[in-house]
Amino acid sequence: MSQTVTVTGMILSAAPIGEYDKRVVILTKEKGKISAFAKGARRQNSPLMGVTSPFSFGEFTLYEGRTSYNIMTANISNYFMELSSDFEGAYYGFYFMEFADYYTKEYNDETQMLKLLYQTLRALSSGKIKRELVRYIFELKALVINGEYPEVFRCGNCGAVDRGVVFSSKNHGLICEECKAIAADGIGVDSSTLYTLQYIVSSTIEKLYTFTVSDEVLSKLRRIMKQYVGLYVDKRFKSLEILEMCLD
Ligand SMILES: [Zn+2]
Repeated sequence: MSQTVTVTGMILSAAPIGEYDKRVVILTKEKGKISAFAKGARRQNSPLMGVTSPFSFGEFTLYEGRTSYNIMTANISNYFMELSSDFEGAYYGFYFMEFADYYTKEYNDETQMLKLLYQTLRALSSGKIKRELVRYIFELKALVINGEYPEVFRCGNCGAVDRGVVFSSKNHGLICEECKAIAADGIGVDSSTLYTLQYIVSSTIEKLYTFTVSDEVLSKLRRIMKQYVGLYVDKRFKSLEILEMCLD
């Protein structure tokens, strides 16, 4: 009996293998992150050629072999083509794929991360929100989904909720005016930045990309997220290095 299964997911990465094949990593709703072979996907006329490119989102029918999956057919509902013709947009996209790849596992429930990736690529390709803001929203929400994220509602030291605050990565989030002495790395947080952080942490994924911020708030988010990700995300992302080289 053949073992065929249909999954919904997004291609995170694709690598050439052999002369004409590809090996892809797919983040799926049903099986978490899996890797699969796409036989002949690099041949000119292969129906699997386009469907196995990063960002492709849709249904994949897989043959489950003894040691690996093989893609038989795919029905793609969104290729996010806008990004493929735009170097900077594509590299933001690759960075989100790499970040998601780092935080997801096989046979783990990754529905939330898949949903976040999908909404993030939509925001990225619509161009309505600055890409840099999309980046910080994605990073913070991905950490929230992963379960290790900063406290943004109260002082992490005394629990106070109604005092001026700083953001301290070493203290995992907010530290109030009175406890500030313990936060040497503290970054002053105004009320708009605080509200933005709280909104990102508590909002549903569907409503995440519905706001924009002032340049002041964006520059605060930049400092906060760079400090936090720099301290807790133990990985150098290749696509981010390329992106930052180009943005400089
Ligand atoms: Zn305090």
